Amino acid sequence: KQYDLFELAAFRYFARKKPIPSQTGGPCNGEDTSSSMVPSQASSSHQIVLREEGPGLNTTTEGIARNRKRKRKTRSTYTPNTKEVAAKARHEAIRPFILAAYEAFGQRLADGSLPRSWIQPASSEPEMGDEDVDFVALAGVWQADLAEIVFQDSEEHFPLFNALVRNDCASEVLAACMGHTFLLPKRSAFLLSDFSRLSPLIPATRSEGYDIILLDPPWENKSVQRQATYATLPNRNLLGLPLQKLAHSDGALVAIWVTNREKLRAFVESELLATWGLRLEATWHWLKVTPEGETISPLDLAHHRPYEVLVLARAPSEEQDVPSAEREQPSETQHVASAEREQPSEMQQAASDEREQPFGTHKMNTVESPASSQLTVTPSAPDNFVIVSVPGEHSRKPPLKCLLEKYSAKGASSRGLELFARELTAGWTSWGNEVLRFQDAKYFVAK
Ligand code: SAM
Repeated sequence: KQYDLFELAAFRYFARKKPIPSQTGGPCNGEDTSSSMVPSQASSSHQIVLREEGPGLNTTTEGIARNRKRKRKTRSTYTPNTKEVAAKARHEAIRPFILAAYEAFGQRLADGSLPRSWIQPASSEPEMGDEDVDFVALAGVWQADLAEIVFQDSEEHFPLFNALVRNDCASEVLAACMGHTFLLPKRSAFLLSDFSRLSPLIPATRSEGYDIILLDPPWENKSVQRQATYATLPNRNLLGLPLQKLAHSDGALVAIWVTNREKLRAFVESELLATWGLRLEATWHWLKVTPEGETISPLDLAHHRPYEVLVLARAPSEEQDVPSAEREQPSETQHVASAEREQPSEMQQAASDEREQPFGTHKMNTVESPASSQLTVTPSAPDNFVIVSVPGEHSRKPPLKCLLEKYSAKGASSRGLELFARELTAGWTSWGNEVLRFQDAKYFVAK
C-alpha cells in the first residue's frame, strides 16, 4: 500500500522548485520569497476585491429605473460580509506559515535531504469502478445481515456489518467478502456500520478507551453532494457522537478535519468542541500540491484554498474533568511527579525539536496522566503546523498516525481510532459506512 510505509508517504515531488501561484501577488518563491514571508508584507499583498462586470447600461427612458438598480449592483468593489472577513483574517494569519513550510520543503527537495521514497512518484492508483463493492448500497438490502467476511488462512467467518472485526495477528491478513479480497493490516480492527449503530466501538470502561481519535466527518458540502462522492451528515448530528465515552480515561488527542467554510469552523470551535468536552489545542493546515510541486490552486484564491484544516483538541483525563472545587489535594505521588517533570523527558525533547521547525509554533502546555499511574508529560501539539503533500485520489487525506502519536502520552503504543474512515490503519480501529473501501487488494502492491 502506498501510504503504509512512511509518515507522510504521499509526498512525491520532483527536485525542482516552483513558485506558489498567488492570485494577486505573482510568484512568491525563490529570491522573492523572503519578502513575502514577512507577515506584515504578506498580509498587505492581497485583498478580496471582486469585480462584477455587467452588460452595457440601457439608456432608453424606460430603462433608467432598471439602470439605477443595475448601477447599484455593478459596484467595482465588493464589500465582504462578516464571515468572509473572518475567513480572510484566518487566511492572513496562516499565510506566512504556509509560505515558510513551502519554502522549507523546497529547500529540502533541492538539497536532497528528503528520503528517496518521498521523491519517487508513486504508481497511479487504480480506478474506482462499478465492480467495487458498494457498502452503502449493500447495507440497505435485507441480505446485509447475512453478509460475512472470511479470513483466508483460518477460514474464520465474521458478520460484515455492525460487528467489530479484529485482526489480532502481527501480520496482514487477507479476507474475502462479496467476491473481493480485502487486506486487513496487522492488529487492526474495523466496524462497518451507520452512524446510528456505533455501540460496538464503545469500550466497557474508559480505561480501555482510545488515546488518539481522528475524524473526517462527511460535512454537508455542495461539491460532495453534486459529485455524489459520499453521503453527508447534518452538522447537528455530529453533536450526538459519544466522544467522551470513546476517549481514554487518561485523556485523548482528538484531530478533526474541517473544511474552510467559516460557518463550519465557527460551529466546530464554538459548539462542537464544547459539547464533546474538548479543549482546542492547535490548528494544522494541509497544503495540497501537484506532483510537480505547485499548489493545487492559487494560494490566495478565496473560494478554493489549496489547503484544508485539521483542528486538534484534547479530551481531559477523568481527573482533570472533575470541577476544580471537587478535586482532591495533590497526593505525595503527585508531588514526586512534579519534581520529576523538571527534567525534560524524551517527549519534551521531541516537542522542542519540533519547535525549531519554521512552520509551527509550539505551546508548552502539558497534559498529565492520573497520579495513580506513572506520570508522563505530553507535549501539546504545535500550533500553525503545516503538512505539505500530494493529495491522493478520491479526496483521501494523508496518513497521520505517526504524526499524531508524537502528541499522545502513550506515543507509538497509543490506542488509535479513526471515525468516518474509508481505510484501515495498522494498530488502530476504524469505523465508517464504507470503512473497507480502500482495503480492496487491488489498491495494494506487493513489496
Ligand atoms: N478520511 C476519509 C479518506 O481520507 O478517505 C474520507 C472520509 S469522508 C470525508 C466521510 C465518510 O463518512 C464517507 O466514507 C461517508 O460514506 C461516511 N459517512 C457518511 N454518512 C455516514 C453515516 N451516516 N454513518 C457512517 N459513515 C458515514
